[in-house]
Amino acid sequence: MLKMKEINFFHGLGLCWVLCLTACQKNASSSENKPAMQQRPAYAIAIHGGAGTLSRANMTPEKEAAYRSALDSALIIGETVLKNGGTSLDAVEKTITYLEDCPLFNAGRGAVFTHDGRNELDASIMDGTTQKAGAVGGVSIVKNPIQLARAVMDKSPHVFLTGRGAEQFAIEHQIDTIDPKWFFTPERWQTLQEMLAEEKKAGPTGELDPALRDYKFGTVGCVALDAQGHLAAGTSTGGMTNKRWNRLGDSPVIGAGTYASDDACAVSCTGHGEFFIRYAVAHDVWALMSYKNLSLEEAANFVVRKKLVEKGGEGGLIAVDKAGNIALPFNSEGMYRGYAKPGERKVMIY
Ligand code: ASP
Repeated sequence: MLKMKEINFFHGLGLCWVLCLTACQKNASSSENKPAMQQRPAYAIAIHGGAGTLSRANMTPEKEAAYRSALDSALIIGETVLKNGGTSLDAVEKTITYLEDCPLFNAGRGAVFTHDGRNELDASIMDGTTQKAGAVGGVSIVKNPIQLARAVMDKSPHVFLTGRGAEQFAIEHQIDTIDPKWFFTPERWQTLQEMLAEEKKAGPTGELDPALRDYKFGTVGCVALDAQGHLAAGTSTGGMTNKRWNRLGDSPVIGAGTYASDDACAVSCTGHGEFFIRYAVAHDVWALMSYKNLSLEEAANFVVRKKLVEKGGEGGLIAVDKAGNIALPFNSEGMYRGYAKPGERKVMIY
């Protein structure tokens, strides 16, 4: 039998051991955390305004200045949210709302026309923390489809709503609806007319003039990392000029055009949607990081510059990882894009 004195001795020894262990663990975890905290910027945000819609030959200095200034303004909107402690989701939604209202980009106001002369808009958003997502496809009366996608995520049990049902949901949830004339821009109308004329010449199975292919794409997107380390991604588009039969591209498809997960990265894509759907491009970047331990840059470059090129899929993507690294690869002639971190803001086209 142990005497009381001995019990106290062992008890004291045990307590010392526990205290020592706790102190050591504390030290270890604070020294582990330090570099990560130093490395991760307070926020990071990246945007795109579409790839493949542009070529140097079609660009004038005035047009270029207008695009640069719109991209810069969009970044400032997102940065302001993040600098004020807002969430990455809010930054993504607000930034995309601005880009949707700008007629320069193929999303919202500047959406391209379908074969039948309508505008059918698609958008999606994903929360990297909860992995919740919302998406809408083929809506024609919703002023800002990204806001509707957010409402689908926040206020419905579903992920993806389309057409009339999505519009009904918008009305029921007081999302701004508008006369479809709002989406009429003469430049996009002219592009459709040129494509229709070209199609007539080429016949139903003929190849289009490559110069016209430049006009096919366009989309806007945003990815962000906030001060809490949460990631979000969103994408919005009018799709491809001359699309038919209620065609949907990758932009509203979670895993294809948009993906976010706090454990790795947030991704938004732009380009020839059929390829981005087939190869689950946004999710593929996440998968390469998660399962193969690739860095963001390696994963994004592999998917865009190797895999998509081999398969014939034109376009690009923007991505941010949990450490605030940014990647903006594309395999087309250019991609309207930009990024910002504390003390750094840049927009680029080619
Ligand atoms: N990915 C979009 C679509 O296929 C178009 C684009 O991003 O340019 O609808």
